Amino acid sequence: MAKPVPQPTPTEQPFYDACARGELALQHCQNCGHRLFYPRTHCDQCHSTDLVWRTASGAGRIASYTVVRRGVSADFEAPYIVALIDLEEGPRMMSQIIEADPEALAVGLSVTVDFAAWSEEITLPVFRLHPALAGDHP
Ligand SMILES: [Zn+2]
Repeated sequence: MAKPVPQPTPTEQPFYDACARGELALQHCQNCGHRLFYPRTHCDQCHSTDLVWRTASGAGRIASYTVVRRGVSADFEAPYIVALIDLEEGPRMMSQIIEADPEALAVGLSVTVDFAAWSEEITLPVFRLHPALAGDHP
């Protein structure tokens, strides 16, 4: 099984362009204020097409996580941590938590976004524990 590489649609392309710049971008609905993820052509709350891209803070909290101890193929280096992240702006995003001791993880902990090259064209958001939680402090 080869590593799946996202093939962004025109709607999704600004998200990946932002990732390549090291920014996490979310669509904001100009009509109702809802923040969207994944990228869509219409707001999933009010169906408005009046959507604009804004850079998110990159801050979030762990909503749930699982430690994958056996990769599905050689392209997935195990163990790795798959998590649902509740972004500060509201949307929930599936991602990975990098450079974290699985024993140090817990639901509700603060994380911040980082970016990892997935292929030559695609950079994906990943998350790491907030520096205050990552063991840098005594
Ligand atoms: Zn809306």
